Amino acid sequence: MDPVDLTPDCDSCFGLCCVLLPFRTQDGFGADKVGGEPCANLELVKGADRCRIHHRLEESGWPGCVAFDCRGAGQQVAQVTYGGVSWRERDEPWLRAEMGAVLSVMVTLHRRLADLDSDDPAYAEIAALRDGNPEELLALEL
Ligand code: SF4
Repeated sequence: MDPVDLTPDCDSCFGLCCVLLPFRTQDGFGADKVGGEPCANLELVKGADRCRIHHRLEESGWPGCVAFDCRGAGQQVAQVTYGGVSWRERDEPWLRAEMGAVLSVMVTLHRRLADLDSDDPAYAEIAALRDGNPEELLALEL
């Protein structure tokens, strides 16, 4: 099958890693925050979520952000799983917790794809799982 694009496309995402994931200073982040809380460095610029220190993360004390690679899971969750509707547009209290769990599942699926050849039968099986809805993704036994 055609290989899945495993390159992060932050322009097609909603800063999901910057919002949904927890940060700890001991893991290379400049501040502690809980999952679901937008990073203080995230800004809405021209309608898109942008990191305002993206060009100087390492020297600003955020090497954890540089090291993180969602493997393209972010845009899949943003555009496919949630149909292009941002966490900013839906403010249900439970939603960010669900999206965070879904993002973690998707990152795991994309990392597995990165370890496989696209001709491997398992590749197509895992790729197909990515199109599940949130309930289906969260029910996967990874
Ligand atoms: S989750 Fe991935 S695609 Fe989305 S902002 Fe983070 S690195 Fe970019």
